[in-house]
Amino acid sequence: MFPNASIGILILALFVTTESADWGYENEKGPDHWADLFPEACAGAKQSPININTEDTVYNPALKDFSVFFDPPLPGSKFYVHNNGHTIQVNTEGKFFVSNGGLTDIYSTAQFHFHWGHKAHHGSEHTLDGAPSPIELHIVNWNSQLYNSIGEAAVEPNGLAVLGMLFEISEEDNPVLEPLVNVLMHVRDPDMKIKAEIPAVSMRAFLPRAADRYYRYNGSLTTPGCFESVVWTVFHEKLTISRRQLHVFRQVLKPSGHHVHKRSTRKHSRSRAVREVFEEIGIEDDKREQARFRRQIVKNTETHVHESLPEDATSHEETMEHHESNHTGSHGHEVKPHTGHHGHNVKPSPISAHPGAHESNMTHAEQVRMMLVNNYRPVQPLNGRVVYRSFPFFNEPINIDTEVVYIDKDNSELARGAATSLVSSAYMCIAIIVAAVLC
Ligand SMILES: [Zn+2]
Repeated sequence: MFPNASIGILILALFVTTESADWGYENEKGPDHWADLFPEACAGAKQSPININTEDTVYNPALKDFSVFFDPPLPGSKFYVHNNGHTIQVNTEGKFFVSNGGLTDIYSTAQFHFHWGHKAHHGSEHTLDGAPSPIELHIVNWNSQLYNSIGEAAVEPNGLAVLGMLFEISEEDNPVLEPLVNVLMHVRDPDMKIKAEIPAVSMRAFLPRAADRYYRYNGSLTTPGCFESVVWTVFHEKLTISRRQLHVFRQVLKPSGHHVHKRSTRKHSRSRAVREVFEEIGIEDDKREQARFRRQIVKNTETHVHESLPEDATSHEETMEHHESNHTGSHGHEVKPHTGHHGHNVKPSPISAHPGAHESNMTHAEQVRMMLVNNYRPVQPLNGRVVYRSFPFFNEPINIDTEVVYIDKDNSELARGAATSLVSSAYMCIAIIVAAVLC
């Protein structure tokens, strides 16, 4: 709690300011410098994300399954997709709530967003036993039982409850992601402030089937201002995403312009460098994805990169076009690599905006890499925090009388597992009553 209102306003102002301000994921504005740029918050002792060492987690039988409602969403509910320059974010409009799951209050779902990397083996913020996933989904919920707005809740203990889902790559597209993936290219330029509406679905659709198996710890926002207000849930079971869908995400975020001033010291052939990039993003065996990727680079650099790409990648473009046109029916509509038909041209890339000496200094691999931006924060130290687990390991003895603390209230109050479970049940009853009234 704040000692007085002025400090509360000050911190809220910081929260609002840092929403759009001077930070990023690269170089001097990147995560390594957040603690210096935002020393009040990002240098705290309970920061997120973390590596979850599963052997060190503590089983807490009070951590039950979540209640996610409304399911299906109430009529008039909407999802709006936009690119805020740091991530793809989907804002909810309508009544979406999460409760139980060891949460002592009812939380309103405000938005969900993603963190990803451009290489095949990193991208998620949380890691399990040291292993990253290629992409992570965060569903951000705020404590609407105790607070009046997400801005107010975001700076209070237990003010936010974020659900984190890790992904693994699958052969098949994830149909739940498809409506979002289909509009990603339309919101590619954050400066255009485009919001694309997609059908609202229950948040349950984004949770793994085993939604009662998760890890729980107290942490922070993973972006500035890094407020330590988050009850974190990271699910044990991973969701799936196809390489094609992941690749669409990887094309969305544009890097900052100063990257063009970097000069490569590496001395290898262009075609080999491009192949390395294909390997980095996991499409080295997929000619169709390579051709699509190359075409996107050409589109956004307004140069003729394809002239230096490996012949085999270039020669498959027509095949890919034909395949795409035959493919349209199964996906409703294909994502188009441009937004021209909406009346918005893709903004020229830093390369075309800064022609001349810098361009000639860059290898084509660097030009390709310019299109690839990681938007994840590296794992932060646990600093003595305990990570709880909602499920027992095989053959693990279950002691239901074990007193377990899993929520820090004002850093002091100790909640007994069984008692908290009763409280959660009470809130669930309230939620059901509220739901009935609203229906
Ligand atoms: Zn996030």
